[in-house]
Amino acid sequence: MSASANFDALVLGAGPGALAISAALGKENLSVQVLSPNDRRDLWPYTYGIWGKEVDDLGIGNLLKHRWSDTVSFFGSGSNIPNSTENNATKHNQDYGLFDKRKLQEYWLKQCDEALVKWERGVAIKFEVNNSLSIVTTSEGVTLKARLIIDATGYQPVFLKNPERGEVAVQTCFGIVGKFSSPPISNNQFVLMDYRSDHLTEEEKKEPPTFLYAMDMGNGTFFLEETSLGLAPPVTLETLKKRLGKRLSYKGIEITEIEHEEHGLFLPMNIPIPDLKQPILGFGGAAGMVHPASGYLVGALLRRAPSVAKAISNSMKDQKASPAFIAKKGWEALWPKDLRRKQALYQFGLEKLMRFKESQLRDFFTGFFSLSKSQWYGFLTNSLSLRELVQAMWKMFTKAPLNVKWGLFEMKGREIKLLLKFLNPGV
Ligand SMILES: Cc1cc2nc3c(=O)[nH]c(=O)nc-3n(C[C@H](O)[C@H](O)[C@H](O)COP(=O)(O)OP(=O)(O)OC[C@H]3O[C@@H](n4cnc5c(N)ncnc54)[C@H](O)[C@@H]3O)c2cc1C
Repeated sequence: MSASANFDALVLGAGPGALAISAALGKENLSVQVLSPNDRRDLWPYTYGIWGKEVDDLGIGNLLKHRWSDTVSFFGSGSNIPNSTENNATKHNQDYGLFDKRKLQEYWLKQCDEALVKWERGVAIKFEVNNSLSIVTTSEGVTLKARLIIDATGYQPVFLKNPERGEVAVQTCFGIVGKFSSPPISNNQFVLMDYRSDHLTEEEKKEPPTFLYAMDMGNGTFFLEETSLGLAPPVTLETLKKRLGKRLSYKGIEITEIEHEEHGLFLPMNIPIPDLKQPILGFGGAAGMVHPASGYLVGALLRRAPSVAKAISNSMKDQKASPAFIAKKGWEALWPKDLRRKQALYQFGLEKLMRFKESQLRDFFTGFFSLSKSQWYGFLTNSLSLRELVQAMWKMFTKAPLNVKWGLFEMKGREIKLLLKFLNPGV
């Protein structure tokens, strides 16, 4: 550690991003302090879903609370056949799970405790950096010194500078956990996307499409969530609530008991990669790590934290390394060039989907899930190489029906800019 820093790293935040990177830094034998307004054991607000294979590959399948093998979607059979039946479900043949949030939190906290990570309560309000040290001041006037600051304060980071976002695509959802007069989906089933829209009027079908994300939670309880893909401006909660009600009443199903209602969760999707030249590192939602297509983050945190921590640890071996140099090494490990190019492709894809009409979306997803399992799974978990991602997208394009091909081909808004970013992702 440098003469005047109290810790090697100061991590800001106590969400999944902060805990994942703190645990990984601890494993590298670095001294870590974490600053957050909330207690480290406060339960996180969201429900975290993940594909079963992702946790299995990491050897942490035991952290799931629920796991489904019957995983399906409904896209109808194409633009001319809007209705779909149970029989033409798209079967994913891939397990899906929900984390036990407490277990996931304890998984990282245990590693932090073993590494003697120190916890400080407070809100960071000021940040200074010089050639040897970074200093954060809290709203209570406490100053904390470290060789590197890692901002893991979520989608609106306290110190990280992000490029101009433009219009932020926001996924909105309205959900209910409860009991119903009859099962709204098949028993033991997980529905990733149900785009059937037979319950909507012709006028409503012209509005931005929404889908049902649903799961059987056991004991006669189901979780149903009416969701829109990332859109700017987002679909309103009133619309989502109304559509979920219509979806149920079309099937003659009544809600008999509400255990929990999720009012208006907003998930920003097309968050740009931060400025990689800043002398402070980011991690988690703050650092643009959320998958632009799925909105998921936890798998990426688990997979990417060790290599970022390793790069930081290596750069700190030089006792004279400046915070700017250490941050640079961290950014290079977090956002290598290929990953930045892939991110530009994903952002481009999201931009396209935002403009698609319902019939195009149905056809698009039918084609997407007819890619090989390794391709669609790799796309959704960001685990394909750049070359494999381009191959998967090209295959998607060549197999797509004309209405989708035209939508993919026609360049609008900032799509050209995003494609240029793919060709030249910058520093
Ligand atoms: C509705 C919704 C659903 C999601 N579903 C999934 C899912 O199913 N699967 C998945 O993988 N991902 C999902 N995500 C994405 C992602 O996993 C979560 O958003 C995740 O909580 C982001 O983690 P984070 O640690 O980066 O930020 P956050 O969880 O937002 O944590 C930020 C932390 O920073 C602290 N903080 C804020 N300001 C300061 C400050 N000035 N000083 C110190 N500390 C500060 C906060 O108190 C908090 O502890 C979802 C996100 C949303 C919004």
